[in-house]
Formats: sequence, structure tokens, C-alpha cells
Amino acid sequence: MTVPAAYPADAEPAHPDMKRAVIRNGSTVRKGRYVLYWMQSSHRFSENPALRCATILANRLQVPVVACFVFMPGYPGANRRSCQFLLEGLIDAEKMFNDAGIGFHTMIGDPHSAVLRLSKDAAAVIMDEGYLRHQQAWYREVSLKATCLVISVEANVVAPVRKVSSKVEYSAATIRPKIHRCMADYIDPSPDVLPQYEADENLVEDRVYARSLEDIAEIVSREKGPSPSPFFHGGTQEAVRRFSAFLSSGLDAYQETRNDPVSGVLSHMSPYLHFGHVSPVYLARKAIETDSPGTEAFIEELVVRRELAMNYALYNPSYDRYEGIPAWAKRSLDSHRSDPRRYLYSFGEFEMAETHDPYWNAAQEEMRICGKMQGYMRMYWGKKILEWSATPEEAFETAVCLNDRYELDGRDPNGYAGIAWCFGTHDRPWKERPVFGMVRYMNESGLRRKFDADAYVEKVRSYGGRL
Ligand SMILES: Cc1cc2nc3c(=O)[nH]c(=O)nc-3n(C[C@H](O)[C@H](O)[C@H](O)COP(=O)(O)OP(=O)(O)OC[C@H]3O[C@@H](n4cnc5c(N)ncnc54)[C@H](O)[C@@H]3O)c2cc1C
Repeated sequence: MTVPAAYPADAEPAHPDMKRAVIRNGSTVRKGRYVLYWMQSSHRFSENPALRCATILANRLQVPVVACFVFMPGYPGANRRSCQFLLEGLIDAEKMFNDAGIGFHTMIGDPHSAVLRLSKDAAAVIMDEGYLRHQQAWYREVSLKATCLVISVEANVVAPVRKVSSKVEYSAATIRPKIHRCMADYIDPSPDVLPQYEADENLVEDRVYARSLEDIAEIVSREKGPSPSPFFHGGTQEAVRRFSAFLSSGLDAYQETRNDPVSGVLSHMSPYLHFGHVSPVYLARKAIETDSPGTEAFIEELVVRRELAMNYALYNPSYDRYEGIPAWAKRSLDSHRSDPRRYLYSFGEFEMAETHDPYWNAAQEEMRICGKMQGYMRMYWGKKILEWSATPEEAFETAVCLNDRYELDGRDPNGYAGIAWCFGTHDRPWKERPVFGMVRYMNESGLRRKFDADAYVEKVRSYGGRL
């Protein structure tokens, strides 16, 4: 794959967003009725580099830009909770696209089939990029079969993952300097670009896949699984509102209190980042503009740790499996396979928060009820699943399954890397001990040293947790 300097090749200077773009096939821009923007992982209008690339190209070719989102029933791991959040984001996005004069088409079906159908009338297809296996497979399929130019744009990270590194990075220490070296090139504000040629209503008539948001809402209402979160609602407006509150009353103390699930204030941006309701560039820029003492720690999490996870998903084919953890960790866990476990729980007992440990149960209940567990508790939660499962493989599977089912930010590179971290990924060997081998261990006295763990249990009880 090559990174284009500009498209079509002409005398105009490349737009800064083109630094995020990758040409995916050998086709060229052709005469078409529109430029198609396939909104796949960045569900937003504002601060969307993929949409900006599509609009700039459409303006240059003097055609409208058409945006599409394809809702796929049976999307891997999707359920009522995650779909409701997604829908709330789409309602927001549709309004903003329409206000900007961009035709926004919602469809139901196989994403790559629907996009290929729309691509037949397109001059080019521009898509945003996610890093999971099935997303990359869709992009490959569209790129291979479309007969026009296909470009993907890394719209959901600060520094494009491919530009930062071309291999799996060992840890935050190895990727940090690479990200910091190029971050300044990607953080500047780029204004949203408006289309010069409006799409008329009949430009796209697709009788196979096209459906309204009401049709999608109807499918969502029939989805099974955990109920929608009572605390988190999707959409760009909600993300921006929450983030403004964090900037004014959380960021200053972020460095000291982020690991305290009782008094600490977090940004709560992870579900919005997962669905692309908000741009990480926007969040990073706004944080940097404050000059707050918490900015450095926040950028470390939002950019370095998050983009280390994207690197892990893109370059490690087993990112969501036990096989993906480092060889030293596998060897060490293997040599402690037959160590006696003091407690052993089944998947159902973990899911229903029926362990002997009130802190672990509180974390599980927080996730089950709210759809988002506090960050420090996630580490403890994952470590204890490893300690209380019959095998490390079973533990990994349990953690991935629960995380993806209940967390609004689940099914994300961050989730897979976070769970893999509990098994040694992006970490170093520690002093050897039972069950864990040389994988880092955590215990409840560590929690008590850091914060009032009993107050955390009370807090979750007040949400209705069965504790
Ligand atoms: C076992 C385990 C499972 C996890 N599962 C997920 C998951 O499914 N989805 C997910 O987005 N994150 C996951 N994380 C990482 C982290 O815990 C969450 O990103 C964080 O708690 C989200 O809350 P916040 O947005 O309020 O965070 P804030 O502290 O406000 O941080 C801002 C942003 O920085 C990023 N970030 C923060 N901490 C981390 C981290 N440790 N690693 C990578 N990025 C980070 C997130 O994008 C977050 O939104 C997991 C971590 C562990 C140990």
C-alpha cells in the first residue's frame, strides 16, 4: 500500500489530512456521480479527517459527497446495550451531516456488499479505518472488488498507526518516543470542510440495503443482552459535553486521582472513542490548550497507551487470544499450570459477581450495570480472573467475553490489549510466584493502600449492585 502525496495528482498542495491516508487499490479516480464516504469506525461529522478527505476530493471533482453507514445485524459481539449507544450516535451524526448538506444513507446488511454496491456510481471511495480483524477484512474486500480508487484514512487516532511503526511494539517505552516524534504533525486543528455540490435526494436509490434510522432502531429494540446503560448515552454532543466538564473539573487532579475509583474524576471518553463519536485529536488538543498539570498524564493514556493498543491489534494476528501474549509469559504461566488454586470460579459465577471478594464483585457489578468499569479496577479484575480460573487460556476467554459483553467500550483494541496486559503483554517479567509465574500480580491490600476500597463497594451498591 502506498501513501499518496495528493489526489488526484495535480498542482494543489496536499491537505494535512492526506498524511493519514493510504491508497488501498490500483484503481484511479474516475468519472462518477459522487465521492462515497464509508463511515465505519468514526461515527461523527466534526473533526473527521476521512470525511474531510472525501469532501475535498468531491469539491475538486465538482460532485457531491455521499456518506453511508451500514448497520450489520449480528455484528461481532454486538448486543442491546452497545447497539443503543451506537444508535444514539447515529441520530446525532445524521442531523449534523444533513445540516452540512451531505447525503447520509443508513443501510442494513453486510457492510462490504452494501459499500460495493454504492461504489458502482462513485468516483472514489474514502473510508475511515479500524484495526480489528473483521474490519481489515472488509477493507481488503472492498479495495479488491471496487472498480474505483479506494482510500482509507486513519481518522480515529492522533498519530497514524502505520506511520508510527511497522511492527508490534514491545511496550509503552518503545512506542512513546515514536509517537511523540510525530505527534506535532497531527495535532493542529483542521477546519471542517463543507461540500460545494449538494446531493439531491434521489442521487442514491438502493432498494436492497437502504433503510431509515427508524428501521435500525426497530432492530436494536429486539436485540438481546445487557440493557442500555443508565449513565452513558451516545453521540458527539454528549461526548463534548462530558469532556468539557472533565476539562473544567477533572483534568487538574487527573495525575493524582485517576486510580481512585471513589473520588477520582475520569474523562469517560472511552465509549465515545470506541464508536468514533469524538476525535482523539480534538480531545488531545483541548487538553493541551489548558496547560493543566494533568495534561501530560492524560496524553500518556489517550495517545501513548491507546495507540499502543491499536498497534497491538493491527500487527498481532492473535490480539484477542491467549496465543497473542509474549512467549516469556506463556512459558512462565505454563510452568505454573498445575499450581493449586485457592479459589476456582466458573464463567457464570464470574458473570454474576459471585466470588468471595467484595471488591472484585463490585467491579463486575459496576461493569454489568453501568457499562463502564473504572480503569484501575479493570487491572485488578483481569488479574483475579487469571488467578481464579482453572487454566490461563480459560481465564483469557472469560475476560474477553465479559469485557466485550458488558463494557460500552468493549470489542476494542484497548480492551484486548488491556486483557493481554493482565497476562504479561506490554509488561516485563516480575518476581516468580504461584499461578502467575513471572506475570505481575495484584492483591486486595494494594487496592486498600491506594483508596478506600470499602467506599468503592458502597458506591457500586448505590447503583443497585447486588453486593
Ligand atoms: C483488563 C482491562 C480491560 C480493559 N478494557 C478496555 C476496553 O474494553 N476498552 C477501552 O477503551 N479500554 C479498556 N481498558 C483500558 C482502560 O482501562 C480504559 O480505557 C479506561 O478505563 C477508560 O476510561 P476513561 O475513558 O474514563 O479513561 P481516562 O482515564 O479518562 O483516559 C482517557 C482515555 O485514554 C485511554 N486510556 C486510558 N487508560 C488506558 C489504558 N490503560 N490503556 C489504553 N488506553 C487507555 C482511553 O482511550 C481513555 O478513554 C482496559 C484495561 C484493562 C486493564
